[in-house]
Amino acid sequence: MALLLAACSAPADIRDSRFIMGTLVEFTVAGADEAASTVAITAAANEMQRIENAFTIYGNQNNSVKRFNRSQVGASVQLPEEISTLLATALTIKRESNGAFDPALGRLNRLWGFSLPEAPTSPPSSRAIEQAMPPATCIEKRNSGWARLHETCMLDFGAIAKGYAIDRGIEILRNHGIANAIINAGGDIRLIGSHGDQPWRIGIRHPRNRGEVIQSLELQGDVAVVTSGDYERFYIFKDKRYHHILDPKSGWPANTAQSVTVIAKSAMQADAWSTALFISEGHPDISRNLNIRLLIVNNRGEITKNTL
Ligand code: AMP
Ligand code: MG
Repeated sequence: MALLLAACSAPADIRDSRFIMGTLVEFTVAGADEAASTVAITAAANEMQRIENAFTIYGNQNNSVKRFNRSQVGASVQLPEEISTLLATALTIKRESNGAFDPALGRLNRLWGFSLPEAPTSPPSSRAIEQAMPPATCIEKRNSGWARLHETCMLDFGAIAKGYAIDRGIEILRNHGIANAIINAGGDIRLIGSHGDQPWRIGIRHPRNRGEVIQSLELQGDVAVVTSGDYERFYIFKDKRYHHILDPKSGWPANTAQSVTVIAKSAMQADAWSTALFISEGHPDISRNLNIRLLIVNNRGEITKNTL
């Protein structure tokens, strides 16, 4: 009887969700007191919202990233430590990915407009794209701060900030004593601990069949799973799909993959690398030395690599 009661009174999952970073962010906490979980989730959500406000280049609110993007070419600008650190990480990943990941595509991303409140329905002209393309060396670190080296160089953390925000959200949950939780930001996930005596179960979206899962995973401990896909923000124009992940070499949407999923230690790394490898389709020279697991669906819908 006592055992039965104990089983029945095991706390249920505590769930909550918020709309942050243009997506529904779902928080699930297992095995914890409801009141404490609610406080922890609220704190985590507030931190993630703070990060969105600090990094976004859209909306009316002012922030340091937007000020940097408007700064005089060649002038040194001090950035807050948090932004400076993420920028340094992003530039390292740019180098390691042979330029596939580029945090200075703000101008080009804005031209394509996938993150604008009203996304366009047809591509910009080749001429406009050429004019918005930044040079290979765009952002310079100096003792006195950061400088942009050309009018087209504008920061956009859209491919890494969500992962960073998820990591910070998990850190806040942990600081509140939560040991078992998932933060799921529109399919980009970090999880800690387990779901009772089971691992957490998550599904990777099929890039073409809406509502379908291409692979489900059972994971526990501390792990991040992030997917970049051409189905997230896109339109079809004259039978061709145009989407939000741009190849910095051409200025056009990358066309070698439908989706790339990365499992890594941090959501920030998984976020940046899923974007980078989407562009270079898991280029073996790049992915070999990384401590990550991968699922790649190529542009014909075939799974070409799966180490999940
Ligand atoms: P994700 O959904 O994480 O793959 O990130 C895509 C977002 O990152 C886009 O909406 C852009 O804001 C930005 N972005 C697009 N192409 C790139 C790129 N090649 N490198 C870095 N960021 C990019
Ligand atoms: Mg990304």
